[in-house]
Amino acid sequence: MIFETVIWLEVHLKLNSPNKLFCRCKNEQEFDDLTANTHTCPTCMWQPWALPVLNKEPLDKAILLGLALWCEVQNISQFDRKSYFYPDLPMGYQITQLVKPTNIDGEVHFFVDKEFSESRNVRIRDAHIETDTWKSTHTDWSVLLDFNRAGTPLVEIVTHPDFTSWDEVIFFLKHLQRIARFNDIGDADMDKGQLRVDVNISLRQQWTEILWVRTETKNMNSFSAIQKAIEYEVDRQSKILQEWWTIDQETRWWDDISWTSFVMRSKEDAMDYRYFLEPDMPLVEATNEHISEVKQQLIEGPFVRISRYKNEYNFNKEYINALINDVHVNNSFEDAVSHGYSPSEVAKWIVWPIQRWLNESLRWFENTKFTQVQFLDFLWLIKDGSLANAQAKIVMWEMIETWKDANLIIEEKWLTWVGEDEVHTWLEEIFNAKPDILEDLKEWNMKPMWFVIGQVMQKSGWSADPAMVNSLIQKFL
Ligand SMILES: [Zn+2]
Repeated sequence: MIFETVIWLEVHLKLNSPNKLFCRCKNEQEFDDLTANTHTCPTCMWQPWALPVLNKEPLDKAILLGLALWCEVQNISQFDRKSYFYPDLPMGYQITQLVKPTNIDGEVHFFVDKEFSESRNVRIRDAHIETDTWKSTHTDWSVLLDFNRAGTPLVEIVTHPDFTSWDEVIFFLKHLQRIARFNDIGDADMDKGQLRVDVNISLRQQWTEILWVRTETKNMNSFSAIQKAIEYEVDRQSKILQEWWTIDQETRWWDDISWTSFVMRSKEDAMDYRYFLEPDMPLVEATNEHISEVKQQLIEGPFVRISRYKNEYNFNKEYINALINDVHVNNSFEDAVSHGYSPSEVAKWIVWPIQRWLNESLRWFENTKFTQVQFLDFLWLIKDGSLANAQAKIVMWEMIETWKDANLIIEEKWLTWVGEDEVHTWLEEIFNAKPDILEDLKEWNMKPMWFVIGQVMQKSGWSADPAMVNSLIQKFL
């Protein structure tokens, strides 16, 4: 039997709003550096007398995400109570959205190859808002609970079964990270648990429609783990089906150490969670005016942006990757282009040498002291002709190393542009000293050309433009 793989995802994305979903406690992203149980209040510890109140920022970010995923944003949505017992959920329920989620029926278009030439469509069933649980840490003899994470805002993105392989899944998730980061919705860092993915997998016989029983695999916190977990589960299910046994509907736990998954629990259906309308929360209202106000913050989607870099700017994949893999680099590029600088000129400096320096020094663009104003000043000096290409490289390296302004570096290094009159005088000197060179050139023997240009460059302390020297030489001929 030949099987086809059918996959759908439940992706939890942490929103980077300043506060938690229902209280004014800080929504800290860096849990590890934070002392446990310092950002808590009666509301996010679910004391019976403290009522949750929905904050506007996380709602707006959730709506913005819905718009970026081409969802329909519902004017009226509701919160539901999902009841289950788990050690990291002491009050015994989670506030989420099942019946009327804020965002429904979306669609995501993304590239599925490294050349940015092939693309796919995945439909989004819904993108609903919910609270995160507490964080539990297991020691040898106890479980430690940290309530800082309790009640922080998540959006769960549920896709339709439109994936057929692990690489499509990973390309989709990288696309989702760009949507979240470019729109400042969340950092979507998997290492920090800001992007968590549950993968539902089932198989069907080739050319047929009927799916066999699905399983859900949880606890993968890297792209390589997602790949391995999907490969493992597809292999496991096809072996069972080849033997004509049946697959149990279950939730499986991926173990990063043994590279296998094991049964966590037999999968519950929605019924088992005894969902009902959250009695402590009013309906969520989002008027059309509110939605279009949020829509103004929506930036161009990564698919359109990458297509523009590829088709309009003719950038190769190295250029495109350098520009889209870091939101701060991307913002800097887009800002400079919007100031009227040529995209290829701007990209040239970002990809090389800025990106190279960042890679070599293992730094992020965000953490450098290199300001956008400094970068724009630098580009201006090239555009208005004050800085030739050879000098610009020297200045850029100096800027990166010292964080000084381009103008200051030029002053310090005497990199001022040498004028035509001065170059003309030097050429006269060279030709007077060696008249045979001029004769050779006149007879189109071009060998001494580089010697002459080199002499002028030396005299100018490498601050003459070779192209200008060349054109002045032509005037002697
Ligand atoms: Zn709180």
